[in-house]
Amino acid sequence: MGTIPAEELGIVAVHEHIGYGMPGSELDEKWWKTPEERYAETVPKLRQFHEYGGGTIVDATGICNGRDVDYYKSLSKKTGVHIVACTGFVGGDTALPHFARASVAYLASVFVHEITVGIGDTGSRAGVIKVGVSRGGRMTELDKRIYRAAARASVATGVPILTHLAIDPAPAIRIFNEEGLPLDRVLFGHADDGLNAENTPSEWIMSQGGRIGFDTFGYETELPDPPFWARPRKERLDHFLDLIAKGHLNRLLASADANCSPLGWPGVKGHTVNYIFEDLMPDLRNAGVDEADIKTLFVDNPAEFLSISA
Ligand SMILES: [Zn+2]
Repeated sequence: MGTIPAEELGIVAVHEHIGYGMPGSELDEKWWKTPEERYAETVPKLRQFHEYGGGTIVDATGICNGRDVDYYKSLSKKTGVHIVACTGFVGGDTALPHFARASVAYLASVFVHEITVGIGDTGSRAGVIKVGVSRGGRMTELDKRIYRAAARASVATGVPILTHLAIDPAPAIRIFNEEGLPLDRVLFGHADDGLNAENTPSEWIMSQGGRIGFDTFGYETELPDPPFWARPRKERLDHFLDLIAKGHLNRLLASADANCSPLGWPGVKGHTVNYIFEDLMPDLRNAGVDEADIKTLFVDNPAEFLSISA
């Protein structure tokens, strides 16, 4: 709906999904949702987020995974929650062939167009660039092409990058350095998930200047039907608190990676963006994290990261 002044973002959920599905899910008659169903399951979550004091949700869905900007605009208008849309891709393995076969120059031009002109005919511009590591735990040639294009678009526009997964970060950091992108413009995400946390060198990434996302909070092994990336609640929290205790507060961001209305799959039951208010903030307070530090994590750090710095 337009540029949002950084000081008006408020409490930010920096990595979420308004509706996420695999490419092609819109062709599946069994799961494709009617507009009524999508609004019915999404609006109450956003209203609750707003009631809790939430200001902004960053939608990290990207091209090919169900991004729907006109829908986001109507949700934002009705609920008062700012929604930041992204350009880019969740990972190389969700880019459709048209993009998967494209050059760095073409991909960069798509990202820059969506940031400076608009996404399709919506008149809305992207505020962040999504990139990611394909399944398998190693950056593929296509992942690297997308990272390089994203770096060029970020340097050209000042819009930051957020990543799906922070495993195998050395090639990513090499690409960002080669393209002259300061690493504080990059949020290396999913550093906390149950599958990858052990193999993610968070402290090394921060030592290089990057930001770290503990952005899958709430995907816990304690859920009735936990996903494969779930992690014991206490283990994740202790990991996060340990990094805060080591002095990394200013480099950390937290979110829930919730999927308000899953497309083409049932989603994970019992997990919403409001985990941030209902569970995470109380857990942090109980562990002795004070209000000033909570504001740093959820207001100041995201505002600094999301500010367009060109
Ligand atoms: Zn995500």
